[in-house]
Amino acid sequence: MDIPPGGRGDGDPLAAAAPRGLVIADDLAEGVLAVDPGNTIVFANAAAHRILERRPASLPGGSAMEAFIDHRAEDLVVAARRQGSAAGDLPPRISDGRWLGLRARRSADGIVWIVVEDVTELRRLQRIRAEFLDNLSHELRTPVTNVNLLLEMLMRDAEALPPRTRERLERLQVEAAQLAQMVSELLDLASIEGGQPLLLADVDLADLSREQAERLRVYAERNGVAIVVEAPETGPIVRGDATRLGQAILNLVHNAVKFSEPGDTVTVRVDASAEAATVVVADEGAGIPRADRDRVFERFYKVDRARRRGQGGTGLGLSIVRHVVHAHGGTIRVESEEGVGSTFTVALPIAAPAAGGSAP
Ligand code: ADP
Repeated sequence: MDIPPGGRGDGDPLAAAAPRGLVIADDLAEGVLAVDPGNTIVFANAAAHRILERRPASLPGGSAMEAFIDHRAEDLVVAARRQGSAAGDLPPRISDGRWLGLRARRSADGIVWIVVEDVTELRRLQRIRAEFLDNLSHELRTPVTNVNLLLEMLMRDAEALPPRTRERLERLQVEAAQLAQMVSELLDLASIEGGQPLLLADVDLADLSREQAERLRVYAERNGVAIVVEAPETGPIVRGDATRLGQAILNLVHNAVKFSEPGDTVTVRVDASAEAATVVVADEGAGIPRADRDRVFERFYKVDRARRRGQGGTGLGLSIVRHVVHAHGGTIRVESEEGVGSTFTVALPIAAPAAGGSAP
């Protein structure tokens, strides 16, 4: 089924209503469309016609739904009109198998501007990268697990071994455990990046934070670090995947303890405002130099590889946290001062009061 283009040529009142100053728009590789408050397309550049496979100048006059033949485009316009901006992919149409990436933004005069790109190749490469990482991690998982098990067995008989051999075995064990950790985090990242659907449920952030802090209590005590949780009895509820959110909080608290000194305190604070629920993880540890602050969320990034005397760490923890938080429509930021400590703040949209019961 094809919806006939509703556009008209020059001299049409719509053309007169089109936003001005767009002479360079036809030089852009991205498609640009403007939708007025009445939901009519009042402008579309040459690339928009090419990407949407329409005759030149045929798009103005129609609606976003007619242009994209997908109600999700109209939903995006509605969302941008309501909240200022919105973005998303339109899955391939059966006819051509192309993915379209859309970004919509509302301007002061109430026009919603849509930028449309053919992202088929980009999405294909992203999928290949994710699949490669996923395959690699799966392939590595079995041998790495076996190496760890064999080392464990060897260590059981270590008493009989010469001290130098025993010491080497112990070092091997540390390295192998590090490898296992990296493989498991790579698998997590691949599955989060692969856009696996989130298991949505109502999650009490206070309970979740208490649980994660508890899981790290022994590790913290061993390092002489205290963990304090400041959270209301019944916490703010967010809609999300409890396992993934728990993992994100765990990673933050784990880092906070790892980069603290004996005698320091790690504080986990849960708060809520009208729109957002926040989890703040603050430590009194090493801090993060200013130049590194934005980069710590990149995969494999570590501030100072030599700094943590064999403490391990893969550099993947914070990139997992960021992915999880973004997948939940939230934000994460870090404030830090070297030698004073770091504070990571996660803000998540609070579940609507009407959210009701949880889905399976
Ligand atoms: P890692 O496995 O190395 O902890 P992350 O992605 O969790 O990987 O963190 C990346 C880097 O950011 C760490 O190696 C460390 O240099 C820095 N970092 C993270 N959290 C903290 C913190 N609470 N205090 C100081 N540095 C931190």
